[in-house]
Amino acid sequence: MNENEMFDWPEQVMPANEDQKPYLKELQKKYGMKVYLLDPYVAVFKIRSNVWAMYAPCTHAMGDNWLFLIEGPEKALFIDNGWGLADLKGLGEMLTGKPVLSAVTHFHLDHCGGNPQWSEIFCHDFTADMLESVMDHYEQWWKQFNHVGEDQHRHYYKDEDIVPYKGYKALHLKNHHIINLGGDYDIELIHVGGHAPGESCFLDKKGRILYSGDAMFAKHEHLAASLFSGGPFQVLHPEYMGVSYYSVQIKLLAARMNEFDSVMPGHGQIDCSPEIAAGVSNAAQAIVTDPHCYDRVVDNHGHKACIKDGGMAYIIYDPEDAVENLRTHPVDSWK
Ligand SMILES: [Zn+2]
Ligand SMILES: [Zn+2]
Repeated sequence: MNENEMFDWPEQVMPANEDQKPYLKELQKKYGMKVYLLDPYVAVFKIRSNVWAMYAPCTHAMGDNWLFLIEGPEKALFIDNGWGLADLKGLGEMLTGKPVLSAVTHFHLDHCGGNPQWSEIFCHDFTADMLESVMDHYEQWWKQFNHVGEDQHRHYYKDEDIVPYKGYKALHLKNHHIINLGGDYDIELIHVGGHAPGESCFLDKKGRILYSGDAMFAKHEHLAASLFSGGPFQVLHPEYMGVSYYSVQIKLLAARMNEFDSVMPGHGQIDCSPEIAAGVSNAAQAIVTDPHCYDRVVDNHGHKACIKDGGMAYIIYDPEDAVENLRTHPVDSWK
């Protein structure tokens, strides 16, 4: 049988990233896969007794991503909420039978497009600042990805499944803030910056799982933690982007590897070895020591970028940008 013949998934959850198909098929064999009417735009895998991983094919010409639902004793929590189609919150409530909160790792729309389904969103202070700053034109920004007929969108979803935009409150959480899901079920926000000013991981202390958003990925040809301190649009707190701040924070996080057994990144493979934290930390420390230490040059959406191999994970960056970032915000200034 051909590799992809078994892949008879509904069109709306078919991966946009072709190279994910064999991996998703593997996950389907291991956990089963379900698609629910409440939100038919995510492929749902129950990967632990209280954790669901949901694969959300990209609505736009970017990458597919992962959302995670954690059920605690009294409440449940989404880590990231994807593109915000259909009733994701309702799906979470149906699966867990509990009130469902949502936290987001950073302000990029593939991670927080579903924010308007909640009245408040748990996120780092800088992510909240950024979300507030775009709220006035958020609807326009959001529709660019989620509205039929807009540039580059994918046509697999129905217009009626687009959730009307509404404002919400972004909570300004500080590094190490605890989100309690009942009893002693605590989720810790860990601020790492780098990819986005407010980029944060969430540590499920009881489940011993680190949800890492775009801060780190399992080693893959097309997946590297991207640490560019500039960007196509204006961000607030840009000094927390790039390699300098990240190198300090990720080293602290890698030193806590004994607190988790698995890492769940926002793209690519999930359930990864905690060693990927050491991998990105190794790469970041090497870049700080010599920004020109890269292993190879690649094309990054039409621009040249460099890859540093940290053993278990890659970092993608621009050496000149790193030099400038380290000059204006030296590593020692964060300590
Ligand atoms: Zn991102
Ligand atoms: Zn992302």
